[in-house]
Amino acid sequence: MLDLLIKNASLQDGQRGMSVAVREGRIVEVAPGLDAPAQEVVDAQGMLLIPPFVDPHFHMDATLSFGMPRVNQSGTLLEGIALWGELKPLLTQEALVERALQYCDWAVAKGLLAIRTHVDVCDPRLLAVEALLEVKKKVASYIDLQLVAFPQDGVLRGFNGPQQHTSNLERALDMGVDVVGGIPHFERTYDQGTQSVRLLCEIAARRGLRVDMHCDESDDPHSRHVETLAFETQRLGLQGRVTGSHLTSMHSMDNYYVSKLLALMAEAKLHVVSNPLINITLQGRHDTYPKRRGMTRVPELMAAGINVAFGHDCVMDPWYSLGSGDMLEVAHMGMHVAQMTSQSAMRACVDAVTVNAAQVLGLEGYGIQPGCHADFVLLQARNPVEALRLRATRLKVFKRGKLLAQTPASVSQLHLPDRPASTQWMNGF
Ligand SMILES: [Zn+2]
Repeated sequence: MLDLLIKNASLQDGQRGMSVAVREGRIVEVAPGLDAPAQEVVDAQGMLLIPPFVDPHFHMDATLSFGMPRVNQSGTLLEGIALWGELKPLLTQEALVERALQYCDWAVAKGLLAIRTHVDVCDPRLLAVEALLEVKKKVASYIDLQLVAFPQDGVLRGFNGPQQHTSNLERALDMGVDVVGGIPHFERTYDQGTQSVRLLCEIAARRGLRVDMHCDESDDPHSRHVETLAFETQRLGLQGRVTGSHLTSMHSMDNYYVSKLLALMAEAKLHVVSNPLINITLQGRHDTYPKRRGMTRVPELMAAGINVAFGHDCVMDPWYSLGSGDMLEVAHMGMHVAQMTSQSAMRACVDAVTVNAAQVLGLEGYGIQPGCHADFVLLQARNPVEALRLRATRLKVFKRGKLLAQTPASVSQLHLPDRPASTQWMNGF
């Protein structure tokens, strides 16, 4: 007897009429037209069954703090960092936990079941670290939460000497934070940025941890810390375990230099996370016209064989006042900014918030295949491009074969002469 049988589903790779059989939290069979006794049977009615959305880049310690203590007037990264600095002394652990849990509710409802969140380690109290470790435990049965020790103010930039932030970061790792973060472009000098990349990669190598750095998040064509990140990755044997997040300076770099850089990044097996909603709003702020888009070179990175994922980065915080945990909205923006409009490129944008993002986190048992965890989302769309176009309703969200959330299908009743009684914005419906 199966625990769950999904029938008549479409899959991300284009297969239709597929059944997915689940026993004890795992997928045991994926086949067309399967019929077997099950505790629960779901007729997908031809809709798309997709593995859960994965957000490879988020800031859960800042989320839902919009307007506290004031609003970002300039809309720039730097005012956002200053604003976060004003908010930090006012934070309480209770409020941090409550806001993060509320965001996790939103995430589950949107089928977002794995999140890599950076957590600021520059406050010596490590209040946010304690709060997010507590949240990680609380949500463990429904969200895979991976924490990155993120020295927001720069690991070498501290006014009390360079040791302070390094020791805070090491303490956070001792407490159970999973990944080593950094922000080389925000260190005081370019040279210190380079030193920070080396120092942080060495800490990760010593501890056997992954690395995920905010890297070259500027419009400066000469900000080239990703080159150092690729170099240190290879020197320390960290291939496949290091992520460069943002990399917006690549947008503005010299094309010849990028042709060299792409090969170095591919050789180091770097992962790249672009954050389209944030990069399109924060970058190009110092331009008049024409204004640069500022997002990294997503299609070119993908063509070079580099794993590229899209992250949400921010929801209602000092940097971004919108968002709802909807990774299809993230992919939708990424597709537009990168002009990835071919059918295959649009499918790649959906991969960027599912399978590619899962690779960034190193998730085990991810996918709709026998042996994988029975984690999936039934969308109100028949294929990935339709899902992207409609930012489709998440009809049902499952984790380990258990229903976590469901949303009624989006249908508009029409009262028009000689026209259908309703529409779902799909051809043929
Ligand atoms: Zn970030």
